[in-house]
Amino acid sequence: MKINGRLMMEHRWVMEQHLGRPLTQQEVVHHLNHDRLDNRIENLELKASHSEHLREHQHTAAWLCVGCGSVFYSKPCEGKKFCTKACYDATHRGVYPSRGLSFGEPIPAGSSTSPQP
Ligand SMILES: [Zn+2]
Ligand SMILES: [Zn+2]
Repeated sequence: MKINGRLMMEHRWVMEQHLGRPLTQQEVVHHLNHDRLDNRIENLELKASHSEHLREHQHTAAWLCVGCGSVFYSKPCEGKKFCTKACYDATHRGVYPSRGLSFGEPIPAGSSTSPQP
């Protein structure tokens, strides 16, 4: 979109309206749910710098595989719902019964099934 003749990323514009001031060059607007098309202010978070922003995308979280129910690790921005491609394929062939998992939900830290050292 264009504001005052300059090209503007919508999420940056939404954040500027929210803050009531223009963003600086260093500031980055991050999407909390990693959906770049979701520009609601609730989904946006202001990061002070690119390096601070990158950290949000580099941490890995534990997820429950939608197919087999096992725990796997990935970055939220990858949006993975299955532990492996094979598991994805198997589920789409109907091999796994539905386990009623709420998928896309990160597992809270500490509830991992792996033994603690
Ligand atoms: Zn981001
Ligand atoms: Zn799986």
